[in-house]
Amino acid sequence: MKDTHKHHGLRNQLVKLIERKGISDKNVLTAISNVPRHLFMDSGFVDFAYQDKPFPIAAEQTISQPYTVAFQTELLKVKPNQNILEIGTGSGYQTAVLIEMEAKVYTIERQKELFKKSTLFLPKIGYNPKKMVFGDGYKGLPENAPFDGIIVTAGAPFVPKPLLSQLKIGGRLVIPVGGDIQTMTLFVRTSEKDFEKHELGNFRFVPMLKKRN
Ligand code: SAH
Repeated sequence: MKDTHKHHGLRNQLVKLIERKGISDKNVLTAISNVPRHLFMDSGFVDFAYQDKPFPIAAEQTISQPYTVAFQTELLKVKPNQNILEIGTGSGYQTAVLIEMEAKVYTIERQKELFKKSTLFLPKIGYNPKKMVFGDGYKGLPENAPFDGIIVTAGAPFVPKPLLSQLKIGGRLVIPVGGDIQTMTLFVRTSEKDFEKHELGNFRFVPMLKKRN
């Protein structure tokens, strides 16, 4: 499937909508306008790709709503060449947005099916993460730490300690914390021992689960 003028037009409308909802970081908006979201979705949903909604992907997971992707990405304050860890590769859409922002992306997925799919798909359309891991995001990725930013794209019942400890000083962890409904939470590491915590509204993600599947 191709990326056509029609898709570009729909994407520009989506970007305008996200801007109206409060996203102002130009780099984030540019990234959203560049990533062909329709290619990340199952064929049955392709026509809906530029609605601001989450949609089912394989393994009972979802591709996040574009506004949510933009909101989390804005909170990360990504700069070129930063090392970013993503927990929950899923469709690879958020990964692609981070790569558009010139981040070096490490991404972990616990569902084999999704891991296999995104590992083949992302490079095929020109997005090359630094590392794609089939594993448990609760542990983070100690061998590649510390990170400038960590983004969790599943609802976490609690904040995993390894993720906090794998942040650089000045690094940012963006994580939805809670049960059925989660609070988007930003941690900024201000020293070896200290973290600032900000709570930024409610969201609804698929739950972060333990172990691989
Ligand atoms: N970033 C994705 C969002 C996918 S939904 C996208 O843009 O499409 C959340 C993903 O997190 C799912 O694919 C789910 O399988 C994965 N996940 C859940 N628990 C996990 C864990 N402990 N470690 C890694 N990935 C996990």
